[in-house]
Amino acid sequence: MSSLRFLALQELAHGERKISGYPDKKISAIFAGNVFTGRAMREFLSDEAYKSLINSAKSGSKIDRRMADQVAAGMKAWAEDRGVTHFTHWFQPLTGTTAEKHDSFFTIKSDGTAIELFDGDVLIQQEPDASSFPNGGIRATFEARGYTAWDPSSPAFIMESGSGKTLCIPTIFIAYNGESLDYKAPLLKSIAALDKAAVDVCNFFDKNVTKVVATLGWEQEYFVIDETLANARPDLVMCGRTLVGHLSAKGQQLEDHYFGSIPERLYEFMQDFEQEAYKLGIPLRTRHNEVAPAQFECAPIFEEVNIAVDHNTLLMDVMAKVAKRHKLKVLLHEKPFAGVNGSGKHNNWSMATDTGVNLLSPGKTPRTNLMFLTFFVNTIKAVHDHADLLRAAIASASNDHRLGANEAPPAIISVYIGKFLTEVLNEVETRVKEKFSEQDEVILKLDIHKQIPEVLMDNTDRNRTSPFAFTGNKFEFRAVGSSANCSSSMAVLNTIVADSLRKFKNDVDALIEKGDKKDIAIMQVLRNYIKASGNILFEGDNYSEEWAEEAKRRGLSNFKTTPEALDAYISDKSKQLFYDNNIFTKRELEARHDIMLEDYVKKVQIEARMIGYLASNHILPAAISYQNTLIENIRGLKEIGLDKKSYKAQLHLAETISNHIQQINDNVEEMIEARKKANDTENMHKRAAMYCNEVKPYFDKIRYHTDKLELVVDDKLWQLPKYRELLFLR
Ligand code: ADP
Ligand code: MG
Repeated sequence: MSSLRFLALQELAHGERKISGYPDKKISAIFAGNVFTGRAMREFLSDEAYKSLINSAKSGSKIDRRMADQVAAGMKAWAEDRGVTHFTHWFQPLTGTTAEKHDSFFTIKSDGTAIELFDGDVLIQQEPDASSFPNGGIRATFEARGYTAWDPSSPAFIMESGSGKTLCIPTIFIAYNGESLDYKAPLLKSIAALDKAAVDVCNFFDKNVTKVVATLGWEQEYFVIDETLANARPDLVMCGRTLVGHLSAKGQQLEDHYFGSIPERLYEFMQDFEQEAYKLGIPLRTRHNEVAPAQFECAPIFEEVNIAVDHNTLLMDVMAKVAKRHKLKVLLHEKPFAGVNGSGKHNNWSMATDTGVNLLSPGKTPRTNLMFLTFFVNTIKAVHDHADLLRAAIASASNDHRLGANEAPPAIISVYIGKFLTEVLNEVETRVKEKFSEQDEVILKLDIHKQIPEVLMDNTDRNRTSPFAFTGNKFEFRAVGSSANCSSSMAVLNTIVADSLRKFKNDVDALIEKGDKKDIAIMQVLRNYIKASGNILFEGDNYSEEWAEEAKRRGLSNFKTTPEALDAYISDKSKQLFYDNNIFTKRELEARHDIMLEDYVKKVQIEARMIGYLASNHILPAAISYQNTLIENIRGLKEIGLDKKSYKAQLHLAETISNHIQQINDNVEEMIEARKKANDTENMHKRAAMYCNEVKPYFDKIRYHTDKLELVVDDKLWQLPKYRELLFLR
């Protein structure tokens, strides 16, 4: 047997493992060693350049040209000190991965002298020949130019790969007319919008606040399997998930993997990628097994959202690279295996002031609690008003497998806040009246304050089924996909909360103008917001049938598939929202929508080709081969004179196999026809819908029969590693 499956199994049994040994340094000793941190800046920049850089990092403003030269020189000196020869503008195009194009510092002067050069121009801006990145028609081919521009708010870092070291400059990627072509540009705009709106509202309570940042702590789930086995699965190689494969006898039903001891080979791998992450300044803190076999999770200490997103993106890349050293393969896909849990990426989100206050953390005084309540209610209102947009922000072909199915948060967006905060909101809603005296207000504020310690005692995090849960001092958006770039969901969340806060301020100001006292005005508006957004709150089991029905009664949407979910991006309401908050123009939104639809189509198309290929080239041949053995056996039994009774089982098996073969064949042919029809459809929206509703349903039909065949065909004829091998062998 020389199929890849058996070679892989052999290698797994006898192959050598990389043992990296225990790290000999404390984490703090290596942390951010490859990052151009404040300390590195101090060492390598003049006072003037240092101040200028820190200033633009904080304010997000451009650095002036002369300073840029100095910063570039300092950065280069720092990098060369560490053996760096190349640099790249590092950006996050809408393809969902990161992009790099490396240039060396090396250049030749007009007189032929070879030198190393890195000046302010190349630091600030580059024009990658990137015309093949998706742009949704924003850049016509005759003007297919986009450029990357330095984002000084995210520090430069050194990426080590093999023996190569590259200086990476985090950048945004935009078209010449300024329209964004990546994830980072809109995220930065949303951060600015939130900053402005939140500071304005903070100033109702505290005049000292001058800056508010969004914070993000992501929890990254992933699968890790043996690389050689993975390589024997064309579907894993091409699509990142298994398209066929029968469940193994044991799955996750014993719940023996969750929080169990981490297998040694995995432990080695985790330590190794963590070391790389620490050097890059990624503050990883937690690691553990997850529910499904071969599934794990890691999480960092939270950071400012822009940096947190960069770090997550970077980490996904680092994990994949480091896994190779260990002959392992990381699967970031949301649903690599049917029948066991999929992977998500919980996005823990909050807002923090430059005075050190977490705005979603209950306060210590009645007054700070009113501030907490303000930000808390505004977040709920934002989610209520734009639930469809949040759903759209997490839509992808791969995340459909989670959100549509009965395990991860459902596609229905709702908010969980826990018993005590529900009571607090109820009190505000019922006790704040049209005529609301100052004394009423003070008493209510005190009553709320009395209830807050109970909120803190309340184990708010215990509803694991909610897509958007308040967990004591932050909201946790759990419906984000494991492979996603967090930017999409974070940019939407920042924007909708910014929008809500902006309106909140206007509403409060209007009441103050009418003569209301400030805190009374705040209470009044809060009460209106609570009233208006009540139907987004849900405390029960989000996986239940009853909730789906109840949500429908409440008028909440339940978009199970990406093509329909994405429509929320181009509704009039969303266009207005993004326009008002200075995030996207209408044209940009339409372009993005197109890109996302196209991405969906391509992903499903690749899977459709792959499942057809696997069925025809791997599974049918194995089935036919085994059937031939049966036929020979039957013929032999007949020949030696046995009657039909004695080969009844073989006959039946041969017939069953024939049946499955026929079904597979027919379904593959029909799927190809459906694909052709979809491909002939010009309109991207229609094409995506066709891929979703007319092509994709064949996957399950085909898989049903291939998986049945897997159960009956001789194991040694089966070329594709089985679930029990992929999930349990390491
Ligand atoms: P779990 O949800 O698994 O119980 P934790 O609640 O401790 O774990 O933390 C999950 C993530 O939330 C971590 O990455 C943590 O840093 C992050 N987190 C904690 N506080 C905040 C905050 N104020 N803003 C954003 N993220 C936060
Ligand atoms: Mg969590």
